[in-house]
Formats: sequence, C-alpha cells, structure tokens
Amino acid sequence: MMPADQPDSAAFGATLTIDLDALVSNWRLLGKRAGTEAGAVVKADAYGIGIEPAVTALAKAGCKSFFVAHVSEAIRARKVAPDATVYVLNGLLPGAAETFAAHGLSPVLGSHEELLEWASFRQTGAQVRPAALHVDTAMNRLGLWPGEGLNLARERSGVIAAAGIGLVMSHFASSEVETDPANARQIAAFAEIAAALPEVPASLKNSSGHFLKDCPSYQLTRPGYALYGGNPTPGQPNPMKPVVGLEATIIQTREVEDGTQVGYNGRWTAKGKRKLATICLGYADGYPRNGSWTDTVTGGSALVDGVSCPFVGSVSMDLIIIDVTDAPADAAKRGASVTLIGGPLDLETVGGGAKTIGYEILTSLGRRYHRRYIGG
Ligand SMILES: *Cc1c(COP(=O)(O)O)cnc(C)c1O
Repeated sequence: MMPADQPDSAAFGATLTIDLDALVSNWRLLGKRAGTEAGAVVKADAYGIGIEPAVTALAKAGCKSFFVAHVSEAIRARKVAPDATVYVLNGLLPGAAETFAAHGLSPVLGSHEELLEWASFRQTGAQVRPAALHVDTAMNRLGLWPGEGLNLARERSGVIAAAGIGLVMSHFASSEVETDPANARQIAAFAEIAAALPEVPASLKNSSGHFLKDCPSYQLTRPGYALYGGNPTPGQPNPMKPVVGLEATIIQTREVEDGTQVGYNGRWTAKGKRKLATICLGYADGYPRNGSWTDTVTGGSALVDGVSCPFVGSVSMDLIIIDVTDAPADAAKRGASVTLIGGPLDLETVGGGAKTIGYEILTSLGRRYHRRYIGG
C-alpha cells in the first residue's frame, strides 16, 4: 500500500519501511499472551507509522477496539474502521459531546465533571456509543481517584449508570519495570474498582503489562508500543517483530586530517585521519538533535553494511555526518544506503543514542520520508 500521489523513492533522501504484517503478527501475539481481546492504541498517528494503514490492517485482522488521544485522530480511525469501537483517551472536552455522537466515538471519561456532562448529553436522547471510565491508580494525570470511583460505582443508579459506561480502565505508570512495587499496588487498586462494577468489562494492560506476572488481563488490553515493534521487556530479548525500518542515502564522502573540526560550531574534532560520509536526513525528519556526537558527548549511529558508524558533530536540519572509516569502501560511497533504524539499531538503541526513549523516536518519525508499506 502506498499513497498514490507519492513520487518514486529517488525523490527522497530516506525511506521508511513499515511492515504491516509484522504489526498484525505483534497484535496477535499480545492477544494470545493475554488470553483475552487485545485492542490497539493508535494515538499519535499510530506511533508515527500512519493511522489509516495501521487501523486498516488491524481491523482486517479482527481488531475491534482502538484507542487514540484526540477526537481528530478518532475521526480518522473511524473512517477506515466503521464498525470498531474508537475510544478517545483524553476524554470529553467541554461542548465536544455532539462531535462524539456524530462520529460514533467513545470518550474515556476521567472526572466527575466529564461524567455529568456526558450523562446529561445522553439524557437529551442523543444516540451515542458506550463510554469508558478512567480510574487513576498511580499516574495523577487523568481519571477519578480510586476512592471516588468506588463511591460512584456503589451508587447503583447514579452517574455511572446515567453515563452508559461500557468499559472501566486504568493505566500503568511503570509496567516496563517489572520489579517496581507500584505495579502490585495498581493491580490491587484496579481489582477493587473492577469488582465494584462486575457487569462492566475492564482493561488494564498496556504493552509491558502483558509481560507482568500476577496481572489479570480482564476483558480487553491496550497495547501500543509493542505493536510497533518496541520492546515491552527492556533489558531482555524483544519478543516482538520489528515493524519500522529507516534507511538514508549517502550524498558525499570525504577524508579529513587529524584535528579537523566538523559540523556546526565545530563540536567534533577528528582524532587521526578519518573518512566521513554525509547522509540525507536530519532533525527536520524527526531524528532528535540530541543524537549529536561531540568531543564530550556520545550520540547516535548508523549501520553501513552492518558496520556501526557513529555520528560526527551536530545533527543538522537535513543532514547527518557519520564516520565511515571502519566500513567497507564499496558500501560507504555516494548513493549507497545506510540504516538508521533496523537490525541491531532497534528502537531502544536508537532512543538511547538520542538520550530519549524508543516511543519518542517512533512518534517523531518525519513526514518527509518515502514511506513504503509492506503487507497488510
Ligand atoms: C498510550 C497508552 C497506552 C499504550 O501504552 P504502551 O506503553 O504504548 O503500550 C495504553 N493506555 C493508555 C491510557 C495510554 O495513554
């Protein structure tokens, strides 16, 4: 699948390859692991890979529940998945209920005010899908306090009934750190809420939640990062298939002498004679400037024919310089392609090199790449 109006790959400096079969296979693996229905979190343009192709492929494979952050994203998901339930995690902004109704979207209600506003909208006779109720068991970000949630849940004919709640959920704060004691506290707090609403399906697990011991799956899970190939078990082998690959083209190479300063503000100095290559991608493509490699700070790297080639100096807007001294000469030449994401340069490694996390690498993926979708 390729956007029809896209010129061919030679018109671009870099190619982003997105494997939709791997995406679907990751979704199936998580569902199998959970032993229950897996939904899919497709906020932020499906973590950068494109919400329409991702939702289309997942819906075709049988995914029935999607989660996004904003109404605008939900409308895009709804267009390609007309029958799915589309939850808006950021909830109900004042006056937005009609837009939810018009597109058949489900708000994730996270405060008493939101519950009241949605309940009174429903009382006008508006046709709406069931909403979700968000209970905050650790984050202090969105959701009712557990005590508040329990009190409302026990008022059998109260606002929860009036709001037409079809899902109760909470979100982990540290599920990727298996030993964090917060996990057990959140699991226990959520169990109480779920027990107080026995007729309402529940959802707790994000990606890493699928790999926590002693965590019930309830009726629906909400993986995001792992669907896109991110490692839900950091520090251990990645059980997921890679979904995203990024390759850029070498524009030119040069040899520099010992002591040569390279890039903006000369922040990197050659130690000995080095061979450098300049590649067609930069921070305007979403590669973080924090991947710069200076005389005092390490940064990102690229693979040239499998050889790791560190960045040199500042990441520029449209260009990155790499040190190809150790790469085979016939692979480090004008027109050759180098790997920025792929193989040993997995999302966690790339994130680490740029002093951030793989999630941010994915969601920053640029709009300027040639996008090649395979499978789906
Ligand atoms: C983003 C998000 C998820 C998905 O988290 P991952 O770690 O990417 O799996 C699940 N639930 C909520 C509420 C979220 O905001």
